[in-house]
Amino acid sequence: MKILVPVKRVIDYNVKVRVKADGSGVDLANVKMSMNPFDEIAVEEAIRLREAGKAEEIIVVSVGPQQAQETLRTGLAMGADRGILVKTDATTEPLAVAKILKKMVEDEQPGLVILGKQAIDDDCNQTGQMLAALLGWSQGTFASKVDLGEGTVDVTREVDGGLQTVKLKLPAIVTTDLRLNEPRYASLPNIMKAKKKPIDEKSPEDYGVDVAPRLEVLKTVEPPARQAGVKVADVAELVSKLKNEAGVL
Ligand code: AMP
Repeated sequence: MKILVPVKRVIDYNVKVRVKADGSGVDLANVKMSMNPFDEIAVEEAIRLREAGKAEEIIVVSVGPQQAQETLRTGLAMGADRGILVKTDATTEPLAVAKILKKMVEDEQPGLVILGKQAIDDDCNQTGQMLAALLGWSQGTFASKVDLGEGTVDVTREVDGGLQTVKLKLPAIVTTDLRLNEPRYASLPNIMKAKKKPIDEKSPEDYGVDVAPRLEVLKTVEPPARQAGVKVADVAELVSKLKNEAGVL
């Protein structure tokens, strides 16, 4: 079975994000970019399934600029077998990505597509769900455990207040949550080996998909600065402040 893992190049999660002066978006100039953390978890899960003998091939795919090739190389260094770069300088919205992935799924016929539950740059949490809808496939979102059986996959989902396990018929879509696994670091020999692994280059037109943005960002603002704290003399004063000033009691 093949596993397709879409990986997005996003602003690194350690970077303190700065909003552009005109509020049109986030400043990306000279900012460190990395693989979306949930996608690292997706690559790791695919590798574990292959190591367990339940999958034969892992394909990582990214829709984005030329530099997204580095993101694919990271996936290849972790252990994926080959990559596909769908090159575009346009802002990639979930629907456009899902449409491209649908075509790719029709070409590659994977048994499982494992995506991140959300990209930390746009926080959309939409692509996996849209892809499932476009394909008419089952989906298990926010996975904290994936148990691949014969023709089915059991996905334990992180839901409000607990866990829910669903059984999906393959082929299926899974999106990863934080607790699914801890992604491995790529070793130096694997980073070297990854340089020789193939990356196919495509364009959105190859898949007949128009990636022109359908959404317009009206405004981006920094969160309000945190106010300084105050020291209280005793518990009575704390309770009084929580009740009368913060209004949380
Ligand atoms: P989102 O719906 O934007 O929050 O993204 C959810 C997941 O979809 C990500 O974690 C990726 O697995 C995948 N994805 C979104 N955008 C892209 C992209 N441009 N290239 C590859 N994968 C993507």
